[in-house]
Amino acid sequence: MLSVGLTGGIGSGKSTAARRLRELGAVVIDADAVAREVLAAGSEGLAEVIDRFGSQVLAADGALDRAALAGQVFGDEVARQDLERITHPRIAARTDQLLAAAGPGDIVVHDVPLLVEKNMGSRYHLVVAVDARPQTRVARAVERGMNENDVRARMAHQASDAARAAAADVLLDNNGSQEDLAADVTKLWNERLRPFEANLSSGTVFRRPDTPVLVEGSDWDLQANRLIERIGRALGERAPEIEHVGSTSVPGMRAKDVIDIQVGVGDLREADDPDFIQALAAAGFPRVDSNRMDHPTDAVPDPSLWIKRFHGSCDPGRVAHVHVRELQSAGWQYALLFRDWLRADEDGQADYEAVKARLSAETDSSTAYAEAKAPWFNEVWPRMQAWAQRSGWHD
Ligand code: ADP
Repeated sequence: MLSVGLTGGIGSGKSTAARRLRELGAVVIDADAVAREVLAAGSEGLAEVIDRFGSQVLAADGALDRAALAGQVFGDEVARQDLERITHPRIAARTDQLLAAAGPGDIVVHDVPLLVEKNMGSRYHLVVAVDARPQTRVARAVERGMNENDVRARMAHQASDAARAAAADVLLDNNGSQEDLAADVTKLWNERLRPFEANLSSGTVFRRPDTPVLVEGSDWDLQANRLIERIGRALGERAPEIEHVGSTSVPGMRAKDVIDIQVGVGDLREADDPDFIQALAAAGFPRVDSNRMDHPTDAVPDPSLWIKRFHGSCDPGRVAHVHVRELQSAGWQYALLFRDWLRADEDGQADYEAVKARLSAETDSSTAYAEAKAPWFNEVWPRMQAWAQRSGWHD
């Protein structure tokens, strides 16, 4: 089961995108509807709310008077916390129930207006945000019957566009027509969500044609952060350190469009624990058994010091390599030192780019390209060492 978080500011078109996803076959869980359901007329939740806030929060028909409740909670931190103590566990339990009802091959879309504000992104395999220009959003919400000042006040309290863009793996631009949005959602469904789900169900790593094409990245750091949070959530204390490494971790450098993540474990045997392997696979990162070694350098030639475990990603929209290495091992340290040296040393960066550009033109497979780079890694070792000494570097 693939879980997708869907969000967007007020008037962005989030509900419209959710409807389209439902038509395409997604199981949509509407967070607002669940929040209303747990306080529906006659519910246990509503009874508790009345116990705490009094019957003045009830409308004449026995349903919750939301405006009256909001009035009591507004500006009163204790009251707000009391209300959340009543609602949050019920919302979580009901959401879990709806999730459990979804089948193994389903794509579940959790439609959550405040997903970014509540920092929920790492719960999902993928976060999709719908976006439109602020004035367009206001106009659409007003057209739907809302008061303009209310819309603007809500917008002021919601996450900024930049925060939403940082949290989202996919931004759906809804500045065009509803037909454009529907077409984009359909494309996302067919080209990313369905194959992602199929790969997840079968434990298959997505692979794209094996050619070393170098590109300029714009937000690799943000993409890596999202993967790190997901992996951290999946592994918990089993992964005390998780780092973005490799060329995409060096700002401004052209690179293959691959996010390398290094997961540090206290003992590599932990990475062979079936629970560890399963936790990563369920988060979308199945293990690849054929890849268990880094290239030893001339300075540290003992192959046993370069053993690792490797996981790829199921997501056809984001190639990621997850290297699980023992903390302080040769491979662990090399990856960190190499990154930090390149970040600090412009000449090193330029040299590496030149080597990569030459080799990517000469070789036609990523494997051959990686092999061909090995001598250069040996060559720069003394420069890296010298820099580490000068700068007092340690991992
Ligand atoms: P949200 O759930 O993000 O608040 P909705 O999906 O309810 O937003 O959209 C807000 C309003 O704008 C709705 O009335 C919807 O029909 C309309 N709308 C959504 N997308 C478009 C679009 N591309 N062009 C015109 N109107 C749109």
